[in-house]
Amino acid sequence: MTTEHVDVLIVGAGISGIGAAWHLQDRCPDRTYAIVEGRDDLGGTWDLFRYPGVRSDSDMHTLGYSFKPWTADKAIADGPSILAYLRETVHEYGIDRHIRFGHHIDRATWSSADATWTVEGHRTADGEPVTMTCGYLFMCSGYYSYKAGYTPEFEGIEDFGGQVVHPQQWPEDLDYAGKRVVVVGSGATAMTLVPALAETAGHVTMLQRSPTYVVSRSDVDSVANNLRKVLPEPVAYELTRTKNVAMQQFFYQQTRVRPEKVKERLLGMVRKELGPDYDVDRHFTPSYNPWDQRLCLVPNSDLFEALRSGRASVVTDQIARFTEAGVELRSGEVLEADIVVTATGLQMVTLGEMDFVVDGEPVDFSQTWTYKGFAYSDIPNLASSFGYINASWTLRSDLIAEYVCRMLNHLAETRTSIATPRLRPSDCSMPERPWIDGFNPGYMNRVMDRLPRQGDREPWINPQRYGRDKKLFRKGPLDDGVMQFTTPVPAEPTAPVRTLDVAVPVGR
Ligand SMILES: Cc1cc2nc3c(=O)[nH]c(=O)nc-3n(C[C@H](O)[C@H](O)[C@H](O)COP(=O)(O)OP(=O)(O)OC[C@H]3O[C@@H](n4cnc5c(N)ncnc54)[C@H](O)[C@@H]3O)c2cc1C
Repeated sequence: MTTEHVDVLIVGAGISGIGAAWHLQDRCPDRTYAIVEGRDDLGGTWDLFRYPGVRSDSDMHTLGYSFKPWTADKAIADGPSILAYLRETVHEYGIDRHIRFGHHIDRATWSSADATWTVEGHRTADGEPVTMTCGYLFMCSGYYSYKAGYTPEFEGIEDFGGQVVHPQQWPEDLDYAGKRVVVVGSGATAMTLVPALAETAGHVTMLQRSPTYVVSRSDVDSVANNLRKVLPEPVAYELTRTKNVAMQQFFYQQTRVRPEKVKERLLGMVRKELGPDYDVDRHFTPSYNPWDQRLCLVPNSDLFEALRSGRASVVTDQIARFTEAGVELRSGEVLEADIVVTATGLQMVTLGEMDFVVDGEPVDFSQTWTYKGFAYSDIPNLASSFGYINASWTLRSDLIAEYVCRMLNHLAETRTSIATPRLRPSDCSMPERPWIDGFNPGYMNRVMDRLPRQGDREPWINPQRYGRDKKLFRKGPLDDGVMQFTTPVPAEPTAPVRTLDVAVPVGR
């Protein structure tokens, strides 16, 4: 059996992988590529999550691709609409031909002698082994485990007489009409679920340990829709993107320089929604500043509307234990429930939960330094896509894909085939900073010690700021003294000498 070889192998057919494929086709048309996807369909997040009301909380003008206008009226879109947009993208650009569905990758092994990654996995349908090789490996595998979501240990959960459901594995036939539902958590998923479930449930209680900042916004961007009436679609889209990026950046910046003022404003808006008698201090006033953790957007005040109507309520307390009838809280209160939804988050993972080996040495990503937040010190020909935690994911995954294409073209121009970020002597004493600074939600804290570290200077940084990233990725020099562009080195002195033409699958 021959092993398929491609110049670039993309792992994952979600927003990032599909975007990466488009950029490759556009900027590096001579490169061969394939996308391996563990699931049987594309879309990643937007295919996996099926809970009621699933939607974006970013506007689709920035969560959409730079190259494909979002043309629907609603800027905050539901999951199926996002999936339909991704399907349309792969058909329109012929990306679908390159996707190998049901191919789960377990391990990637780099050989410097051949400038090649050997990628091994299995077919999910029958467990048959899969092996492919590539010159450049582009991980677009998202940031969380697809195996299961995160559920903390709850005492007595096995005693509960009702049903426990995690949003990541929502049963298609779950009947919650008229039932008492407790949603544990107060992140974006809980905020989405509560109003959606409250439409037919008997009552929904959002049980949170601590509050989250919540802000309501219309799901329709009237400026965008008006621009579309008078301008060609791509022009209107570009203008809306620019407006929204500027607004997001301005708001985020305000939370950094005037946190108190922003806090006051956000809480004022919640008070206005819920009225003077509502205990906003207890249920909607976090102990941290806005954007120290992800801020939750609710469209058209749907959460507040559910609370005002009495169909939903918020309880701020901690679970002491589950009982047969429901959940007993530390305060002694008991929440009786038929269904408990554990909207307690995701399990963040590194690079598709795969094992990586470089020239015989297993890779421990916590021992690496991040290069611009997409590559890793001493790991050749490897990129990984990671979006923004404070803005739309795609803004950054687009930039990373552009940069990878620039780098591939540089390899071709210089007739080299290996790009490896290496510390300069002066970098060796850099102070260490965490992978992402100043952002500390539980799901990230739980894995911070497994993630690469940042330094204090370019390019060993992961700024998570679109403006700065744009400069780093679009204007930053490729040959920056850190990224080393080289040709393969034979593994052993006795090995036959390979010519560039044979041993260089990436650089042509
Ligand atoms: C419920 C929810 C709502 C969100 N809403 C927003 C939002 O409004 N705005 C925003 O900016 N972000 C949001 N996010 C973050 C969201 O994940 C990103 O916006 C984006 O969808 C990530 O795309 P991705 O392609 O990088 O990763 P994913 O969507 O996670 O896709 C990764 C793909 O890689 C595949 N894969 C992983 N490992 C392997 C492997 N080893 N072998 C083969 N295939 C593999 C997976 O099967 C999957 O298809 C949300 C996340 C969730 C969970």
